Amino acid sequence: MPDREHNVVLLGAPGAGKGTQAKMLSDELGVPHISTGDILRGAVAAGSELGAQAKGYMDRGELVPDELVIAIARERLAQADCAPGFVLDGFPRTVAQAEALDQVVDELGREALIVINLAVDEDEIVRRLSGRRLCRGCEGIFHIDDEGVEDGGACPNPDCDDELYQRSDDRPEAIRERLEVYRRQTQPLIDYYGERGLLVNVSGVGGPEEIAAAVLAAVRERS
Ligand code: ADP
Ligand code: ZN
Repeated sequence: MPDREHNVVLLGAPGAGKGTQAKMLSDELGVPHISTGDILRGAVAAGSELGAQAKGYMDRGELVPDELVIAIARERLAQADCAPGFVLDGFPRTVAQAEALDQVVDELGREALIVINLAVDEDEIVRRLSGRRLCRGCEGIFHIDDEGVEDGGACPNPDCDDELYQRSDDRPEAIRERLEVYRRQTQPLIDYYGERGLLVNVSGVGGPEEIAAAVLAAVRERS
Protein backbone atom coordinates (compact mmCIF):
# COMPACT_ATOMS: atom_id res chain seq x y z
CA MET A 1 0.00 0.00 0.00
CA PRO A 2 1.41 3.43 -0.84
CA ASP A 3 2.14 5.87 1.95
CA ARG A 4 -0.59 8.35 2.58
CA GLU A 5 0.01 11.92 1.58
CA HIS A 6 2.32 14.00 3.76
CA ASN A 7 0.68 17.43 3.67
CA VAL A 8 2.69 19.26 6.28
CA VAL A 9 2.49 22.85 7.53
CA LEU A 10 5.34 24.12 9.71
CA LEU A 11 4.30 26.88 12.09
CA GLY A 12 6.60 28.89 14.32
CA ALA A 13 7.90 32.37 15.04
CA PRO A 14 10.44 33.87 12.64
CA GLY A 15 13.75 32.27 13.58
CA ALA A 16 12.15 29.17 15.08
CA GLY A 17 14.03 27.10 12.51
CA LYS A 18 11.19 26.50 10.07
CA GLY A 19 13.44 26.85 7.01
CA THR A 20 16.05 24.38 8.28
CA GLN A 21 13.49 21.86 9.47
CA ALA A 22 11.35 22.19 6.34
CA LYS A 23 14.37 21.42 4.16
CA MET A 24 15.32 18.36 6.22
CA LEU A 25 11.76 17.07 6.37
CA SER A 26 11.15 17.52 2.64
CA ASP A 27 14.35 15.54 1.89
CA GLU A 28 13.28 12.82 4.29
CA LEU A 29 9.73 12.52 2.91
CA GLY A 30 10.63 13.15 -0.75
CA VAL A 31 8.07 15.94 -1.11
CA PRO A 32 8.66 19.58 -2.14
CA HIS A 33 9.65 22.27 0.36
CA ILE A 34 7.52 25.31 -0.34
CA SER A 35 8.64 28.55 1.30
CA THR A 36 6.61 31.63 0.42
CA GLY A 37 9.50 33.74 1.77
CA ASP A 38 11.94 32.06 -0.66
CA ILE A 39 9.50 32.45 -3.56
CA LEU A 40 9.03 36.14 -2.72
CA ARG A 41 12.78 36.78 -2.31
CA GLY A 42 13.33 35.03 -5.65
CA ALA A 43 10.77 37.34 -7.25
CA VAL A 44 12.51 40.40 -5.75
CA ALA A 45 15.92 39.20 -6.97
CA ALA A 46 14.52 38.51 -10.45
CA GLY A 47 12.97 42.01 -10.58
CA SER A 48 9.54 40.62 -11.50
CA GLU A 49 6.22 42.41 -11.09
CA LEU A 50 5.45 40.24 -8.05
CA GLY A 51 8.81 41.16 -6.55
CA ALA A 52 8.18 44.87 -7.06
CA GLN A 53 4.83 44.54 -5.28
CA ALA A 54 6.29 42.56 -2.37
CA LYS A 55 9.65 44.23 -1.69
CA GLY A 56 8.52 47.20 0.44
CA TYR A 57 6.49 45.05 2.81
CA MET A 58 9.32 42.55 3.17
CA ASP A 59 12.00 45.15 3.92
CA ARG A 60 9.81 46.64 6.65
CA GLY A 61 9.15 43.21 8.16
CA GLU A 62 5.44 43.48 7.35
CA LEU A 63 3.33 40.78 5.77
CA VAL A 64 2.79 40.84 2.03
CA PRO A 65 -0.97 41.18 1.31
CA ASP A 66 -2.98 37.96 1.62
CA GLU A 67 -4.23 37.97 -2.00
CA LEU A 68 -0.66 37.91 -3.33
CA VAL A 69 0.65 35.06 -1.16
CA ILE A 70 -2.57 33.07 -1.43
CA ALA A 71 -2.27 33.21 -5.24
CA ILE A 72 1.36 32.05 -5.01
CA ALA A 73 0.51 29.13 -2.72
CA ARG A 74 -2.55 28.11 -4.71
CA GLU A 75 -0.57 27.94 -7.94
CA ARG A 76 2.38 26.11 -6.37
CA LEU A 77 0.26 23.46 -4.60
CA ALA A 78 -1.56 22.60 -7.82
CA GLN A 79 1.70 21.52 -9.49
CA ALA A 80 2.24 17.82 -10.15
CA ASP A 81 5.25 17.41 -7.84
CA CYS A 82 2.98 18.13 -4.85
CA ALA A 83 0.91 14.98 -5.46
CA PRO A 84 2.67 12.91 -2.74
CA GLY A 85 2.58 15.86 -0.35
CA PHE A 86 4.40 19.06 0.55
CA VAL A 87 6.10 20.87 3.40
CA LEU A 88 4.78 24.41 3.69
CA ASP A 89 7.16 26.85 5.38
CA GLY A 90 5.96 30.40 6.12
CA PHE A 91 2.44 29.83 4.82
CA PRO A 92 -0.20 30.24 6.14
CA ARG A 93 0.64 33.24 8.31
CA THR A 94 -2.83 34.71 8.85
CA VAL A 95 -6.24 33.20 9.54
CA ALA A 96 -7.38 34.35 6.07
CA GLN A 97 -4.47 32.42 4.55
CA ALA A 98 -5.32 29.33 6.64
CA GLU A 99 -8.91 29.48 5.44
CA ALA A 100 -7.73 29.81 1.84
CA LEU A 101 -5.41 26.83 2.34
CA ASP A 102 -8.29 24.74 3.67
CA GLN A 103 -10.21 25.62 0.53
CA VAL A 104 -7.30 24.67 -1.75
CA VAL A 105 -6.83 21.34 0.08
CA ASP A 106 -10.52 20.69 -0.35
CA GLU A 107 -10.63 21.68 -4.05
CA LEU A 108 -7.61 19.53 -4.85
CA GLY A 109 -9.12 16.61 -2.91
CA ARG A 110 -6.11 16.37 -0.62
CA GLU A 111 -5.84 14.53 2.68
CA ALA A 112 -5.85 16.43 5.99
CA LEU A 113 -3.00 18.75 6.91
CA ILE A 114 -0.47 17.82 9.58
CA VAL A 115 0.50 21.03 11.39
CA ILE A 116 3.74 21.13 13.35
CA ASN A 117 4.33 24.07 15.66
CA LEU A 118 8.03 24.60 16.35
CA ALA A 119 8.07 26.13 19.82
CA VAL A 120 10.92 28.50 20.78
CA ASP A 121 10.83 31.28 23.42
CA GLU A 122 11.17 34.92 22.44
CA ASP A 123 14.63 35.74 23.87
CA GLU A 124 16.09 32.86 21.91
CA ILE A 125 14.26 34.04 18.76
CA VAL A 126 15.80 37.52 19.00
CA ARG A 127 19.28 36.06 19.57
CA ARG A 128 18.95 33.78 16.57
CA LEU A 129 17.58 36.35 14.13
CA SER A 130 19.95 39.18 14.96
CA GLY A 131 22.96 36.86 14.61
CA ARG A 132 21.78 35.03 11.50
CA ARG A 133 24.05 35.15 8.44
CA LEU A 134 23.35 33.51 5.09
CA CYS A 135 25.60 32.38 2.27
CA ARG A 136 24.95 33.47 -1.30
CA GLY A 137 26.66 30.39 -2.67
CA CYS A 138 25.54 27.25 -0.83
CA GLU A 139 22.46 28.83 0.80
CA GLY A 140 23.83 27.78 4.19
CA ILE A 141 22.42 29.40 7.33
CA PHE A 142 24.92 30.32 10.06
CA HIS A 143 25.13 32.29 13.30
CA ILE A 144 27.61 35.02 14.11
CA ASP A 145 28.52 33.12 17.33
CA ASP A 146 29.47 30.03 15.29
CA GLU A 147 33.13 29.19 14.81
CA GLY A 148 34.53 30.76 11.60
CA VAL A 149 31.58 33.10 11.01
CA GLU A 150 32.39 36.82 10.83
CA ASP A 151 30.75 39.88 9.30
CA GLY A 152 32.29 40.53 5.92
CA GLY A 153 33.93 37.10 6.06
CA ALA A 154 33.56 34.10 3.79
CA CYS A 155 31.26 31.10 4.16
CA PRO A 156 32.61 28.61 6.74
CA ASN A 157 31.53 25.70 4.53
CA PRO A 158 34.88 24.33 3.24
CA ASP A 159 33.38 23.45 -0.16
CA CYS A 160 32.01 26.92 -0.69
CA ASP A 161 33.92 30.09 0.34
CA ASP A 162 31.23 32.44 -1.02
CA GLU A 163 30.11 35.68 0.64
CA LEU A 164 28.02 35.83 3.84
CA TYR A 165 25.26 38.40 4.21
CA GLN A 166 22.52 39.46 6.60
CA ARG A 167 18.91 39.50 5.42
CA SER A 168 17.56 43.05 5.32
CA ASP A 169 14.70 41.97 7.59
CA ASP A 170 17.11 40.54 10.20
CA ARG A 171 18.03 44.09 11.32
CA PRO A 172 16.75 45.02 14.84
CA GLU A 173 13.84 47.32 13.82
CA ALA A 174 12.57 44.78 11.31
CA ILE A 175 12.96 41.93 13.84
CA ARG A 176 10.80 43.82 16.36
CA GLU A 177 8.17 44.40 13.68
CA ARG A 178 8.22 40.76 12.54
CA LEU A 179 7.74 39.51 16.10
CA GLU A 180 4.84 41.91 16.63
CA VAL A 181 3.27 40.76 13.36
CA TYR A 182 3.80 37.16 14.41
CA ARG A 183 2.07 37.68 17.77
CA ARG A 184 -0.84 39.54 16.22
CA GLN A 185 -1.43 37.62 13.00
CA THR A 186 0.23 34.20 13.07
CA GLN A 187 0.02 33.02 16.70
CA PRO A 188 -3.81 32.73 16.39
CA LEU A 189 -3.19 29.88 13.92
CA ILE A 190 -2.04 27.72 16.83
CA ASP A 191 -5.63 27.84 18.13
CA TYR A 192 -7.10 27.61 14.64
CA TYR A 193 -5.38 24.29 13.99
CA GLY A 194 -5.53 23.15 17.63
CA GLU A 195 -9.32 23.39 17.61
CA ARG A 196 -9.40 21.25 14.47
CA GLY A 197 -7.21 18.59 16.10
CA LEU A 198 -4.44 19.02 13.51
CA LEU A 199 -1.73 20.58 15.67
CA VAL A 200 1.38 18.92 17.11
CA ASN A 201 3.81 20.94 19.26
CA VAL A 202 7.51 20.11 18.89
CA SER A 203 10.27 21.92 20.79
CA GLY A 204 12.45 23.96 18.41
CA VAL A 205 15.29 24.13 20.95
CA GLY A 206 18.24 21.75 20.57
CA GLY A 207 20.36 20.46 17.73
CA PRO A 208 18.84 20.50 14.22
CA GLU A 209 19.14 16.70 13.88
CA GLU A 210 17.42 16.06 17.19
CA ILE A 211 14.57 18.44 16.32
CA ALA A 212 14.28 16.89 12.85
CA ALA A 213 13.87 13.44 14.40
CA ALA A 214 11.06 14.71 16.65
CA VAL A 215 9.36 16.44 13.70
CA LEU A 216 9.61 13.33 11.53
CA ALA A 217 8.24 11.13 14.31
CA ALA A 218 5.26 13.48 14.74
CA VAL A 219 4.55 13.42 10.98
CA ARG A 220 4.91 9.64 10.68
CA GLU A 221 2.60 9.10 13.63
CA ARG A 222 -0.13 10.95 11.76
CA SER A 223 0.39 9.63 8.22
P1 ADP B 1 10.82 34.48 8.46
O1 ADP B 1 9.98 33.27 8.75
O2 ADP B 1 12.23 34.27 8.79
O3 ADP B 1 10.25 35.77 8.99
P2 ADP B 1 10.21 34.23 5.59
O4 ADP B 1 11.36 33.94 4.72
O5 ADP B 1 9.21 33.16 5.80
O6 ADP B 1 10.82 34.77 6.93
O7 ADP B 1 9.44 35.52 5.06
C1 ADP B 1 10.09 36.75 4.84
C2 ADP B 1 9.07 37.85 4.52
O8 ADP B 1 8.31 37.47 3.35
C3 ADP B 1 8.01 38.07 5.59
O9 ADP B 1 8.45 38.96 6.60
C4 ADP B 1 6.88 38.67 4.75
O10 ADP B 1 7.10 40.01 4.41
C5 ADP B 1 6.96 37.86 3.48
N1 ADP B 1 6.12 36.64 3.55
C6 ADP B 1 6.54 35.34 3.49
N2 ADP B 1 5.51 34.49 3.61
C7 ADP B 1 4.40 35.26 3.76
C8 ADP B 1 3.03 34.98 3.96
N3 ADP B 1 2.57 33.73 4.04
N4 ADP B 1 2.17 36.02 4.09
C9 ADP B 1 2.61 37.30 4.01
N5 ADP B 1 3.89 37.63 3.84
C10 ADP B 1 4.78 36.63 3.72
ZN1 ZN C 1 28.43 28.85 1.37
